[in-house]
Amino acid sequence: MNDWKLPWNAACMCGRVKMRISAPPLVAMACHCTGCQKLTGGAYSLTLMLPASGFEVLDGETSLGGLHREQSHHHFCTHCKNWLYTDGFAGGQFVNFRPTMLDDARWVTPYIESYVSEKLPGVVTGATHSFDQFPGPEDYPRLMEAFAREGARP
Ligand SMILES: [Zn+2]
Ligand SMILES: [Zn+2]
Repeated sequence: MNDWKLPWNAACMCGRVKMRISAPPLVAMACHCTGCQKLTGGAYSLTLMLPASGFEVLDGETSLGGLHREQSHHHFCTHCKNWLYTDGFAGGQFVNFRPTMLDDARWVTPYIESYVSEKLPGVVTGATHSFDQFPGPEDYPRLMEAFAREGARP
C-alpha cells in the first residue's frame, strides 16, 4: 500500500516546463469554487497536495497568474499558459500540484472535494468526502491519515 511508484514526471501542454514529484501526496482534492472554475476553464480544479521538498521544476520557466495574491502563487507555463501548481501558502511547506500534468494521470481520484456549494449541476468527481467550503484546519490531520491509508495511487 505504500508503493507510490515514485518519482513521477510531469510536463505542461507544450512540454517546455518539466516537473518531478518524488514524495507521496498528502491528499488529492477537487475544488469546485468559482475561482478554480475560472482558473481551469473547467468545472473544477484537481490538486495533489505535496510536501514542497518532494516537488521540483526540472526545466522551463513559469510566471505568476491568477489574482497575484501575496499568499498563493499560481504558476503558469510562460508559453502555453497551463496552470501548473500553486505555492507560497501555509509558510511554503506545501505545493498544490495539478495532477493532469502528470505523464500518467489515469489513476488520479480526488479524495476530498471542496466548495460543493459552488459546484456546477451534473458534476460528479468520485471524491470520498465532500465539504461545502474548505475543510477546517482541524479536519486535515484525519483526512491526510485516511488518504495515506486508502487514497488512490498509481
Ligand atoms: Zn477552488
Ligand atoms: Zn507549456
